[in-house]
Amino acid sequence: MKKFETNAIRTQSEQTNNREHSVPLYLTSSFTFDDAEQMRAIFADEQEGNIYSRFVNPNSTEFEEKMCLMEGAEAGFATASGMAAIFASIMALLKSGDHILSASSIFGSTHTVIAKFLPKWGITHTYADINKPETWEALIQKNTKMIFVETPSNPGLDIIDLEWLGELAKKHNVILNVDNCFATPFLQQPIKYGAHLVTHSATKYLDGQGRVLGGIVLGKKELIKEIQTFCRSTGPSLSPFNAWVLSKSLETLAIRVERHSQNAHKLAGLLENHPDVLQVRYPFLLSHPQFEIAKRQMSMGGGIVTFEIKGGIVRGRKFLDALQMCSLTANLGDTRTIATHPASTTHAKLSEEERLAVGITPGMVRISVGLENIIDIVSDIEQALEKSK
Ligand SMILES: *Cc1c(COP(=O)(O)O)cnc(C)c1O
Repeated sequence: MKKFETNAIRTQSEQTNNREHSVPLYLTSSFTFDDAEQMRAIFADEQEGNIYSRFVNPNSTEFEEKMCLMEGAEAGFATASGMAAIFASIMALLKSGDHILSASSIFGSTHTVIAKFLPKWGITHTYADINKPETWEALIQKNTKMIFVETPSNPGLDIIDLEWLGELAKKHNVILNVDNCFATPFLQQPIKYGAHLVTHSATKYLDGQGRVLGGIVLGKKELIKEIQTFCRSTGPSLSPFNAWVLSKSLETLAIRVERHSQNAHKLAGLLENHPDVLQVRYPFLLSHPQFEIAKRQMSMGGGIVTFEIKGGIVRGRKFLDALQMCSLTANLGDTRTIATHPASTTHAKLSEEERLAVGITPGMVRISVGLENIIDIVSDIEQALEKSK
C-alpha cells in the first residue's frame, strides 16, 4: 500500500498508444465498441468499459480512484459540484418517512436542501448542536436513517468527535455522512472512524486554485452503487474537463494543504494577540473549545481562520473594504487569501438570532488563508485592521 502523496501522483488511467506521461483529457461524450457482443456485455455490466460520459469517463474514473485511496474508501462517484454530491448522497438512499439528524452548523446550501426541499418528499430532520454532543443520542428517532455533519464546520469551525459519532451511528444502525471539505483527506479521514459516506466540494481545496466546480461522494461499496445509479439516471455527473483539472490538482494537495495550515496557524496566533480582535477560532489553537478533539482527528489545523472584530457588522464591512491584497469572493481553499464577512453576505438572510445559533457573530470575519508569503498576508490584514478603526 503506497503512501498518500504517492497515490495522489501515481494513480493514473491507462496510457493510450501515444504513451503520454501526463494523462490526456478525454473530452468525449461517448465511447465506441468493437462489436455488438462487447457492447452487450458492457451494457450488461458483465465487462468493464466506458459507455457514455454521464456514466463513466477515464478522467472522472481516475479522479475517483485517487480519492478512494486518499480517503480509504471502497468506492466513489464524482459529481458536478459539492452540492450535487451531498444531494445525491441523501436522495439515493432515503425515502419518504425517513429522518435525518444533522448538525446545525452546516453549509448554507446544505441547510436549504435539508430544511426546504427534503420535506417536500416527506424526509424530515432534526438539527443537533455540535457543542452539546450529550444531547444527540436522544434526538435519534426510530426512522432516523442518516446522521449528517461537517467538521470543521463552515464558517464557525466547530469540530465534532468523529470516533464518538462513528460509534453512535453504529449503535443505532444509521448511515454516517461526513462533509470533509474543510479538512480534506490529507488532514482527516472520517471513514477511519466509522463514517459510511464522505462528501466533498472539490471546488475548494481539492482544486485549490479556484478554477472549476466539482464534487465527489465516497464510501461503502453498496451505498455508492445506489448513489451511482441515482446519478447515472439523473445526470449530475462531473465533466471530463473538470475531472482532468481536479485529478492534476490532487497531485499537489498534500504540500498545498500543509502550507495552507502553516500559514493559517501563524495568522491565527498573531490575531489572538491583536487588541482589535475579540476572539479567534482556529482548530489548533489551545483556545478552541474542541482543541483536544481536533488534535486527535486532524493532523494539522487546516487553512481557515475566523475572528471576531471589535465593532461588529459596521467594522466588519469596513475591514473588508480596507483590504488591499486579500480577495473578496465567495470561494475558499484557493491559493489566494480570501476574506468574507458572513453576517452581511452568506448569512444575511437569517435573523441575528438564527445567525448566533449557528455561531455567526456580527463581527465575524472568515479568512481562507492562501499560499502567498505569510508576511504579505499578515501585513495586509494588519493594515486593514488599523484602517477600519
Ligand atoms: C462549498 C461547500 C459546499 C458546496 O460545494 P459546491 O462545490 O459549491 O457545490 C459544501 N460544503 C461545504 C463545507 C462547502 O464549503
